[in-house]
Amino acid sequence: MLELERRYADEIVAHALEEYPNECCGILAGQDGRVTRLYRMTNTEHSPYRYSMDPKELLNVNQEIDDSRWELLAIYHSHTHTEAYPSATDVRMATWPDGTSIWPEAYYILVSLMDKSSPAIRAFRIKDGTISEEDLRIV
Ligand SMILES: [Zn+2]
Repeated sequence: MLELERRYADEIVAHALEEYPNECCGILAGQDGRVTRLYRMTNTEHSPYRYSMDPKELLNVNQEIDDSRWELLAIYHSHTHTEAYPSATDVRMATWPDGTSIWPEAYYILVSLMDKSSPAIRAFRIKDGTISEEDLRIV
């Protein structure tokens, strides 16, 4: 179960709306499973269909997370025209060529803007190519 403070959920939705119609992406970091930091990342694809986090930003964010002794808790991105469920591309991007997960412990948070007036947010894990939905509680 992932507990997410309302302000982070709001920030994810705001980011998604700003990047619309392209997908947005970002990282949530924190300690003991509690999110304390949100990083907006640049989607280098600038596409409505896919995302790729800027590798240089990712390096810096990973460094800051390590230096602060935080954990990378979640990776979020938006779907602008489909539901909040990982696509085949998302699963491929979450998986090394040998079939194991790049971030096996991280949640994948999907926000859908299919209904822009009522964005849907859901959380998943993608383990070794298999999607499982996780409880997401917004508090
Ligand atoms: Zn996606």
